[in-house]
Amino acid sequence: MKLINHTKISEDILERALLDAARSLRKRVNTSQVVVYVGLTRSWHSRGIAYSASKVLWDKKWRKVNGAFRIWLNPDKNKALVRAEDFFSTAQHEWGHISDYQSKKLLEWSQRKNGRRPLHDYRPEEKRADEYVKTARPKDQYADTILNLAIEIETQK
Ligand SMILES: [Zn+2]
Repeated sequence: MKLINHTKISEDILERALLDAARSLRKRVNTSQVVVYVGLTRSWHSRGIAYSASKVLWDKKWRKVNGAFRIWLNPDKNKALVRAEDFFSTAQHEWGHISDYQSKKLLEWSQRKNGRRPLHDYRPEEKRADEYVKTARPKDQYADTILNLAIEIETQK
């Protein structure tokens, strides 16, 4: 995984949260060569967006990638634990999309019904990613990771 961190949260802690989120899925996910951007948001929920990227130009060189996603963390100190859990679930959801890309479940993305794409939340790939989050290993197995992230959020300046 290549982490691009646009926050002041420790890279180690973000990296661990992201990798644990990938491992928690009962799905095959290859985290190597996946580019992950982490930014901050003031919106209530952590949000994310995944890309089925395969090649990026980096330091004047084309590099093979296994997908990419952006994820935004809400750094609200008063609700640090909730925000940390939310970030973790969002990461699980985005890794779910990456897993689909890697297993080439791409067709549905371009599939239209009656000439129209269904609304975002009703798209089959969204329902599937949500299902992966629901069937993931329980979050309490990652309590240390989530708590460490919460403490980072809480102690940000
Ligand atoms: Zn999604």
